Amino acid sequence: MTKKVLVLPGDGIGPEIVGQATRVLDALIENHGLDVTYESALVGGSSYDAHETPLTDEVLAQAKDADAILLGAVGGPKWEQYDISVRPEKALLKLRSELELFGNLRPAILYKQLADASSLKPELVSDLDVLIVRELTGGIYFGQPRGIRTLENGERQGFNTYVYSESEVERIAHVAFKAAMLRDKRVCSVDKANVLEATELWREVMERVSKEYPEVELTHMYVDNAAMQLVRAPKQFDVMVTGNMFGDILSDCAAMLTGSIGMLPSASLDANGKGMYEPIHGSAPDIAGQNKANPLATILSVSMLLRHSFGEGALADKIDQAVSTVLDQGYRTADIHTEGDTLVSTTEMGDAVLKALA
Ligand code: NAD
Repeated sequence: MTKKVLVLPGDGIGPEIVGQATRVLDALIENHGLDVTYESALVGGSSYDAHETPLTDEVLAQAKDADAILLGAVGGPKWEQYDISVRPEKALLKLRSELELFGNLRPAILYKQLADASSLKPELVSDLDVLIVRELTGGIYFGQPRGIRTLENGERQGFNTYVYSESEVERIAHVAFKAAMLRDKRVCSVDKANVLEATELWREVMERVSKEYPEVELTHMYVDNAAMQLVRAPKQFDVMVTGNMFGDILSDCAAMLTGSIGMLPSASLDANGKGMYEPIHGSAPDIAGQNKANPLATILSVSMLLRHSFGEGALADKIDQAVSTVLDQGYRTADIHTEGDTLVSTTEMGDAVLKALA
């Protein structure tokens, strides 16, 4: 059956980078038998300008109806003056919660051609390919009770609750094991089970779910050691799975190992594999409208979409290979350009990827 994608370009560089990603989708539909249709809609600041809300009920309904969503980025200084309830970023939070997108996939991939961009030695990070699976809708960021209270002695005390139910751990475990089945079949679960009971249960549930994936090797690591290992020897990891707060920190740390924010895609998945796919970077207002932005993170988001929501691993591989080819050919947008490379615009990078796909 034909699959439906909702495309939400958003603000700033969003329309420019998504424009190149939909050219890739068009090429796969026209020349490689991909059975997909897509439609576009406004989100974020551009939606606010047209409808005085960053996410209309109609677009939310379209998102619920779609099989997957491709998003550019939202936000920019123009909308910062508005009340927080109608800021562009609210649209993303609402989409994530309404669609129950609890499983955040953040790959940290460093193409060998860009190994110099990392702050680590090239031999430590060249060809790095780690996938961080972060639980996105639970844990200490959402746990109750929370707040700031005044104690009997008059001192104020801040408090939050680190809480995970078995079902929440089970569903993120399945996301991690399924992702590992598409990769090197190794999952490292990151916790603090020596100190936090909540993560003692996390570890127990991870072990239980792993029995359903006998081909996948499960190991456990304390979060402090995981942070250390990520900067010491990051290539030891295949899939890392962890809770909301640890994942927040480790995924940014892993992304920075690659040194190139314009290269990294991400996915947020529900229990049925439906997902919202987007680059990890923002709307880059400083370069918006200049045809300078790197579209590769968004093009790689299409690859993730095909792999994780549509089961089209071979077509996803084709996109990944095309991106690697254009890097081999020396094409670089300004953010990843170094002397001796060929400096290209957003659209020229799109042209090069399409040529490599063909
Ligand atoms: P940013 O990621 O937009 O930009 C940080 C720096 O990286 C800028 O110098 C920018 O030019 C550069 N950059 C980012 N993406 C690039 C690309 N594809 N190619 C080349 N260079 C790129 O972060 P910011 O400046 O902190 O935020 C700008 C706006 O984006 C804010 O309104 C913020 O709220 C929003 N934002 C949105 C998302 C999202 O939509 N998911 C995520 C982060 C930030």
